[in-house]
Amino acid sequence: MTPKEFATKIVKQLQTAGFDGLWAGGCVRDELLGRTPKDYDVATSATPDQVRELFGKRRTIEIGASFGVITIIGDKQSGNIEVATFRRDSGYSDGRRPDAVEFTDAREDAIRRDFTINGMFFDPIAQKLIDYVDGRADIDCKIIRAIGIPDERIDEDKLRMLRAIRFAATYNFDLEAATLEAIQRHASEIHVVSPERIGAEMRRMLAHKNRAVAAELLKTAGLLDEILLDGQSLYKNRANWRTRLRWMEALGENGSFEQAAWILLSRQIKEQGIQPTAERWKLSNTEVDSITWFENNVMTLSRAHQLPWSEIQPLLIHNDAAAATALMAIEFGKDHEGFQFCQTRLQWPTEKLNPVALIDGRDLKTAGIQPGPVFSKILNRVRAAQLDGEISTKEAAMKIALEIASG
Ligand code: ATP
Ligand code: MG
Repeated sequence: MTPKEFATKIVKQLQTAGFDGLWAGGCVRDELLGRTPKDYDVATSATPDQVRELFGKRRTIEIGASFGVITIIGDKQSGNIEVATFRRDSGYSDGRRPDAVEFTDAREDAIRRDFTINGMFFDPIAQKLIDYVDGRADIDCKIIRAIGIPDERIDEDKLRMLRAIRFAATYNFDLEAATLEAIQRHASEIHVVSPERIGAEMRRMLAHKNRAVAAELLKTAGLLDEILLDGQSLYKNRANWRTRLRWMEALGENGSFEQAAWILLSRQIKEQGIQPTAERWKLSNTEVDSITWFENNVMTLSRAHQLPWSEIQPLLIHNDAAAATALMAIEFGKDHEGFQFCQTRLQWPTEKLNPVALIDGRDLKTAGIQPGPVFSKILNRVRAAQLDGEISTKEAAMKIALEIASG
């Protein structure tokens, strides 16, 4: 069963038992946009206890039951589906999550949601859209608009500021003026959102091909400086900023989050390293490593044609070399000699790009050289000579080794 079929079956079961059952939120939006929803959520008038009774304790999980959500266990293909009781949220004293929820009807469940395009329901049995918030009209006009009074909605939950910009950028929608103004007023409060959530939103924005639109919107909204530097302005120079946007755009469909993050952050990394952003966005070690690698090596690679091969080859066999070379093409142009050099060599077959070493540690031991730091000194020197074409045989390699070993 597909997720969609499973979500339909659950709705049918709810309705047959006499409850309201509807698809809700993101999946309704995605269906209207002709996109495949990431997941289908079901909303219902049944209470969590009634949902568990209807679907059976063994087929349900009640992790989110305190705010009305029961997970229905599906098979491998369909995945699990969350069934949430219609609710009204109240409190929001921490600027992120409601202090309490109360079970209520579909209309109130619609108006607690963030944006009009996310606030619709769909009845898959009657094939009927239930739209209390004029979401359909905003989908047609391509507008991201807060439900209700923007200032209040953003004040309740500051994460909505980043969601608004992500939806506007990745869907190519406009951010409605009052919603944008509310974000501008609350931008400095973004810090109540956890680094995990900020990072997750930044990842989705920067991995998407419209990343430049997202970056520009973040800047317009006053969020960029908050997210990057706790409010100090990094990009006062308009020309420099424009260049960065152009590079982000040039990354295109296949660009990665790490590449875009480097374009956005390199200036800041030069001033204060990557650690502050790593903490603010809760970056993983591999993300930090890649971004740092770009920072340390894109410049060197751009001079690849002028440097000894033994210096460039270890860079070109690195995992991030192709991505760094793509960044170089964007920064220096495809006619740039350094780019052409790297591009050609990256296509070499492995035995040519990274030939087997002429000797290893065992050869040194056999020759009676005492293991120690001198080993790596010897092997590095021999490797460089091999790569630079000075030697090509084991005998020649051992000759160098013995010369170094004898001091
Ligand atoms: P996507 O899954 O593509 O990120 P989504 O809108 O489906 O987008 P989810 O986090 O899956 O996002 O949330 C599902 C629905 O829950 C949303 O469509 C929206 O109706 C509601 N929702 C999610 N987050 C918030 C929020 N911070 N404030 C208000 N409503 C929210
Ligand atoms: Mg979703």
